[in-house]
Amino acid sequence: MKQHYKVVILGGGSGGIAVASRLAKKVSLKNKILIIDHADYHAFQPSWPLVGSGAEKKEHTRKKMRRVVPHGAEFMQHKVSRIQPIERLVTLDHGQTVSYDFLVVALGIQLDFDQIEGLTETLGKNNVCTNYLYDYVDYTYDTLRHVTAGNVIATKPNSPIKGGVAPENSLFTFHDFFHKQGVRDVKLMLRSGNHTLFPVEKYRDTLIELFTQKQIDYTLNDELVKVDGPRQTATFFNYQNRTTTEVPFSMLLVTPPMSAPDIIKESTLADEAGWLDVNPFTLQHVRHQNIFGIGDCTNLPTVKMGAAVRKQAHILPKNLISQMKGRKLKAHYTGMTACPIATEYGEAIMAEFDYSLKPKETLPFNQARNSKFLYLFKKRLLPIMYWYGMLKGRS
Ligand SMILES: Cc1cc2nc3c(=O)[nH]c(=O)nc-3n(C[C@H](O)[C@H](O)[C@H](O)COP(=O)(O)OP(=O)(O)OC[C@H]3O[C@@H](n4cnc5c(N)ncnc54)[C@H](O)[C@@H]3O)c2cc1C
Repeated sequence: MKQHYKVVILGGGSGGIAVASRLAKKVSLKNKILIIDHADYHAFQPSWPLVGSGAEKKEHTRKKMRRVVPHGAEFMQHKVSRIQPIERLVTLDHGQTVSYDFLVVALGIQLDFDQIEGLTETLGKNNVCTNYLYDYVDYTYDTLRHVTAGNVIATKPNSPIKGGVAPENSLFTFHDFFHKQGVRDVKLMLRSGNHTLFPVEKYRDTLIELFTQKQIDYTLNDELVKVDGPRQTATFFNYQNRTTTEVPFSMLLVTPPMSAPDIIKESTLADEAGWLDVNPFTLQHVRHQNIFGIGDCTNLPTVKMGAAVRKQAHILPKNLISQMKGRKLKAHYTGMTACPIATEYGEAIMAEFDYSLKPKETLPFNQARNSKFLYLFKKRLLPIMYWYGMLKGRS
């Protein structure tokens, strides 16, 4: 394998593969692109809440990494341990270095499970679940099927997260599940460290309506800080009244705190909060013209979703090629993102908006209302569009 590539892409997730596919179609870049990722598999993560609700099989959500690497790009399976933008070098976990002319950073978001006291030792046991790790996602449905009473709590941290509405989505399908099973003695609740349910008013109103209709309690500004698995209690710190409460649970669905990958935080590429510091429109790094960023690891002020990455993947390759040719960067990302939310088995809504935080819906009906089509879209069409469109550089 070579030591130098025209383009090196860090991360073979949604953003990394989508960008590689588009760049590899350029004759001038064929076999000059390297993707580096330590993972064996590439997963379609948006299906994980469906797996946790028993509506999808987890094996259907991932493929071997080598199957998604496009022709014309090479793949190196290693963890990146250091980025040196001035030297144009990246160092891998076994000490090898690779140099580049252009760098695309697509390292995703870091899951900080260890920030919650007691969580890592009890995850996957004592009815403590998460839909954020492939290995644990079927435990969510196993637990759901055995709960007959008590508090079923979904948590959300105060930090930015990927898949922004996944916990709400799960609570809605859990509600439907219990209803259909005739389980009446459970109390569903959302405990969120955020100060708002959703950044866009129209969809926030729908979520509030749905929580009220389904009698799901929600508490904002309430951060999960400790889990006692054997005693099945969760402790929350409330940012508003500065109090701590301990709540018993029969099922706890944790969305962990998240942050930028340490390797970005520790580099000179980060902003003050640790995210990759890019221009929100061109996706070019604000200090290094030969570096671009995409997806969850960036400081783009939008909700971190695969749908946002899909739009960014149209912009980044165009601007990268303009930069190579010394031309002006003309392609602009508008912040478009989309959040499909199953409201029960067979029904969904879909928030769609841009940097203005105003709805920008693409379908010819009100996307904040229950729709069977949107559920089918989320469950069946999106994975097809993802594997055969976005990852192939076609949509
Ligand atoms: C439960 C859940 C529900 C979701 N629901 C939705 C949804 O309904 N709709 C939607 O659009 N999006 C949803 N998402 C979000 C979506 O999956 C992400 O926003 C998207 O995958 C981000 O793409 P990315 O390329 O930035 O990161 P990723 O796809 O996560 O890829 C990052 C890659 O970087 C690699 N990597 C990280 N560190 C290193 C390192 N040091 N060295 C080498 N490789 C490294 C990783 O192995 C990974 O392959 C959901 C996500 C989850 C987990």
